[in-house]
Amino acid sequence: MDFKEIIQDIYKNVKAIEDSGALPTYIPDLAEVDPKKFGVHITTMDCQNFGMGDCYENFSIQSIAKVLSLILAYKLIGAKTWERVDVEPSGNAFNSLLQLEVEKGIPRNPFINAGALVIADILLSELKHPKAEFLAFVRDISNNKDINYSSKIASSEKKVGYRNIALCNFIKSLGNIKNEPSDVLDLYFDICSLEMNCKDLSELFLFLANNGKKILGQDQILTETQSKRVNALMQTCGFYDESGEFAFRVGLPGKSGVGGGIIAIYPDKYAIAVWSPKLNKKGNSYKGMKFLEQFTSVTKLSIF
Ligand code: GLN
Repeated sequence: MDFKEIIQDIYKNVKAIEDSGALPTYIPDLAEVDPKKFGVHITTMDCQNFGMGDCYENFSIQSIAKVLSLILAYKLIGAKTWERVDVEPSGNAFNSLLQLEVEKGIPRNPFINAGALVIADILLSELKHPKAEFLAFVRDISNNKDINYSSKIASSEKKVGYRNIALCNFIKSLGNIKNEPSDVLDLYFDICSLEMNCKDLSELFLFLANNGKKILGQDQILTETQSKRVNALMQTCGFYDESGEFAFRVGLPGKSGVGGGIIAIYPDKYAIAVWSPKLNKKGNSYKGMKFLEQFTSVTKLSIF
C-alpha cells in the first residue's frame, strides 16, 4: 500500500478542523507551544518512510516516555515488574489518586502517573546513573544520539508538580516507593521532558511492530513475549480513561502524551507518530486521535 497519498489527504482534512481542544496549562511551558503545529510520520517494516508538516520538529513527548521507562525496567527486573504495577486499565484520569489506597499502593498500570512513578523508582534502584543510563538506552534504540531531556520543561513541571508530588508521597506511605520521593520525582520529571520529533518516534517504536527486534542492527530490545505484553498494555492502557475510545475508533496499540504526541503500532506492519499540541478533555491530542481514526479507517489497517 502506498501510504503517501492517503496521509497527504487525511493530513489536509484534519488540519482544517477548527474546534480542536486546548493546550495543557498545568505545565506552564507546554502552554507556550504553538497550537497550530501538526506533524505526522510513518515508518513501515518494508522500509517506507513518509512524513508531513512539522514532523521534523522536536516536541515534549511526556507520557510517551513511560513506554520507554517501562521497557528498561522490564529488561532489568523481568516479570518482577508486575509485582510492583498491575496490568489493568484504570478507567480514571492519568493523574488520579483514587484507586491507590484500596489497591495498597500498587498502581493499576505502568502508564498512569502512579505507575510511571513506581517504574522510575525501579530504575533508581537498579541503575547506578539512572538519568544518564536511561537516556543512553533511548538514544541506542533510536539510533539518534541527539535525543535529550529538556531541563526547561522538567523544571517548569517540577515547580508546580503538586499532584505528582502527592502521588509519590502517597505511594511511599503505602510502601511501594523504595527510594526518596524527591529523587523519584526528579527522575520522573526528566523522563517526561524527553524531546523527539515524529520521525524519531516512528523509527524508534518500530521494534514493537517487529516482535521486539530493532530493524537496523537487528538487536533484540525485548523478547517476543515481552514485546507482545508491552503492546497489550498500550492497547488497553495507553490512553488512560480514553483507552476504550482509542481502541474503538483507531484500533491500534498506542501511547499518548500531554505534549500532544501519539505513537501507534500495527504489529508486523508499521509505527506511526502524530503531533498536534491541543488536547481533548482526557488529555489526548485532539487532532492526533482524529488523524489516526481516519488513517486506520481508510487503510483498513487496524488490528481488529
Ligand atoms: N509529565 C506529565 C505529568 O506527570 C505527563 C502526563 C501525560 O503526558 N499524560 O502529569
